[in-house]
Amino acid sequence: MTDSHGPGAFDLDGRGLRPETRAVHHRPPQPGGSRPLSPPLHQGHVFSFDGADDLAAAFEGPRSDFFYARYGNPTVRALEDAVTDLEGGTGALITSSGMGAINAVLMGLLRAGDHVIAQSCLYGGTFSLLNDLTQRWGVEVDTISGDDPDEVRRAVRPRTRLLILETIANPTTQVADLPALAAAARESGVTTVVDNTFAPLLCRPLDHGADIVVHSTTKYLSGHSDTIGGAAVFADEVLHHTVWKRSLDLGATPDPFAAWLTVRGIATLPLRIARAGQTALDLATRLAAHPSVAHVSYPGLPRHPQHELAKRLLPDGAGGVLSFELRGGREAGRVFTDSVRLLSLAPSLGDVSTLVMHPASTSHRQLDAAALAAAGIGEGTVRIAVGLEHPDDLWADIEQAIAKAS
Ligand SMILES: *Cc1c(COP(=O)(O)O)cnc(C)c1O
Repeated sequence: MTDSHGPGAFDLDGRGLRPETRAVHHRPPQPGGSRPLSPPLHQGHVFSFDGADDLAAAFEGPRSDFFYARYGNPTVRALEDAVTDLEGGTGALITSSGMGAINAVLMGLLRAGDHVIAQSCLYGGTFSLLNDLTQRWGVEVDTISGDDPDEVRRAVRPRTRLLILETIANPTTQVADLPALAAAARESGVTTVVDNTFAPLLCRPLDHGADIVVHSTTKYLSGHSDTIGGAAVFADEVLHHTVWKRSLDLGATPDPFAAWLTVRGIATLPLRIARAGQTALDLATRLAAHPSVAHVSYPGLPRHPQHELAKRLLPDGAGGVLSFELRGGREAGRVFTDSVRLLSLAPSLGDVSTLVMHPASTSHRQLDAAALAAAGIGEGTVRIAVGLEHPDDLWADIEQAIAKAS
């Protein structure tokens, strides 16, 4: 027993260890009959072994013993397990950001000259990466709308490797027909990757035929705007191993503290995402009845073009992001976001507080009306990423800001 409790274990010559030696040789206390209720934070990046064979075996794969934290860490493993369970996969990879996960998946599975079918509404960072792969490695990309599986069948070529989709698109809130699209990809042996950042828990893309799910855990999973992180969850172990190896070489390693905060965030994810969805539906309904609002996009509204699909894919709610079009156009959108007092003008989503963006004056300011329309965005489109405030307080702020913008 004393062996696992402190420097006595290292007593080499019977005279006890010197202070310098004791200062660096610690053994953590092993709890006896009790256990911590919260998962421990293991900051350590290196682990020791009793024999060379055990250490050698630890190099082998994503579920091996811990030896060096780029390969694995107990706190990061706790998050892998939580995300694997959330998405119903065989295993998960945790990365330092959502883009780290997307990079590991794309660079792990694509070779020079391969072909990718991408939904046209994908996250800007994903498209920027695809463009880079096109320029450097001749990866070819075709885009599809995401509504029709025949688009996938028509786009498939001999070297098509990946179909990349998003469960709910930003800021249009388009819902992708995951079961039909993934089935069409499978007919040709194409691997389907779904970015499920907008709909954790609400939709499990692997249950609908996807092969890999990616998340920016920065958003709903960690949930408090205080971490950056990513995850990829796999339907099979070969994909997991291949992408894990790429992530190691890329160095997209998560920090254990960020992983620890994210595990903590996931504990309240069911409550947060349900509440954000209820409030989003409530605000979307009120906005749709407002005379200064031309149009509202939220999959929970009966008028949404994929409302029937959303009822099947997202039966417990359509998440916390909605967008709406102010009749006053670009200037009205800018004045609206300048006038909100409770809502924060900020990118990102999935926070406890409500965030608002006007793409035409910020993230998409270089686009004219025609280019915006091609991206499914209006000049007066405002996106709201709903948080946990009382819906009446949010509505009071939205109403006063619309009044200023009208
Ligand atoms: C934010 C986001 C990403 C990128 O994640 P980071 O954690 O910022 O790297 C990818 N996809 C979607 C849908 C996102 O919202």
